[in-house]
Amino acid sequence: MDNSYRNFASLMGTVLVLFVTILAAFGLLYSYSTINTYNFILLVLILITVIVTLFYFVSSIAIMYVYRRKKASRIVLCISRTGLRMLFPLVIVLTGLFGGNKDTIKKFYIDFNNLLVDTMDKKYSPDEIMILLPHCLQYSECEYKITNDINNCKRCGRCCIGFIADISAEKKVPAYVVTGGTAARNIVSKKEPKIIISVACERDLSSGIADVGRIPVIGIVNDRPNGPCYNTNVDVDAIRNKLESIINEKE
Ligand code: SF4
Repeated sequence: MDNSYRNFASLMGTVLVLFVTILAAFGLLYSYSTINTYNFILLVLILITVIVTLFYFVSSIAIMYVYRRKKASRIVLCISRTGLRMLFPLVIVLTGLFGGNKDTIKKFYIDFNNLLVDTMDKKYSPDEIMILLPHCLQYSECEYKITNDINNCKRCGRCCIGFIADISAEKKVPAYVVTGGTAARNIVSKKEPKIIISVACERDLSSGIADVGRIPVIGIVNDRPNGPCYNTNVDVDAIRNKLESIINEKE
């Protein structure tokens, strides 16, 4: 038996024991409960519903307020940030259930997250910033291995990598091209940037932003004229502008 199978089987066993215990507890409660027990359970359920509804209401108001005003006090920013993080998975599930467009919701999440980073109005030295790029920006028939080092790019102009490599060299901000979420997480934990400018699709950006948590991420959604993950493109000026808004040019 390999380790992963053993871990999986043990986890399944633990969950099963947990469910059986809960079932037994409910059985006991049912046999010995009086009308007062039912009233108490109902009261607890009402209380939980009130708390969740209040949290949902306050968070929604805070998110809308910050989004429209583009600024707010620390406490409102904190409520909106926490609210969005907690409500986002729920909203995504509901969007899926009602057959809505999840990318639109993810785009809002990315825009709102960018707004929160903007409100921090913090400047960083070039070596504290990281530009993170998806491999699909590279022209599919290019033979140069830019995932090792973006400077292997020969700036031939067939894709946007060359222009981004120029910005990276000019501003002295390291840029990395990664093949997926795991590679992105590895490079982030290895280099420990203070802020990331990340290019990706709505799905990867929203999950990446949630993954890195404590590190601010400025997300820029790529264009996908040839479908997902193939010869994609990005507004290079948007990267430059975002970079100039956070970089401390004196360093
Ligand atoms: S710009 Fe760079 S990465 Fe893009 S095709 Fe040319 S050499 Fe390859």
